[in-house]
Amino acid sequence: MSWANYNCPVCNEVAKEALPRLGDFVEIVCETNCGRYRITGTAMGTIRYQEPKVRRALLESAKAVASADDREVPIITSYL
Ligand SMILES: [Zn+2]
Repeated sequence: MSWANYNCPVCNEVAKEALPRLGDFVEIVCETNCGRYRITGTAMGTIRYQEPKVRRALLESAKAVASADDREVPIITSYL
């Protein structure tokens, strides 16, 4: 696995993208704030229009779903 520099779509800090892409999502590692998560292409296209607090809420709900499902990496699928 390799990494490309990327701006975190949730908090806009410098983050990394896991490459190669494995499907219709991007895997991001944001060491500053958000940790490791995935975001679908669709959500990627829409999240930038959301308020920062909404983005944060999307990540939090993705994390809640991931831990409820015992999944390793949260996935942001679309806006609330
Ligand atoms: Zn972030």
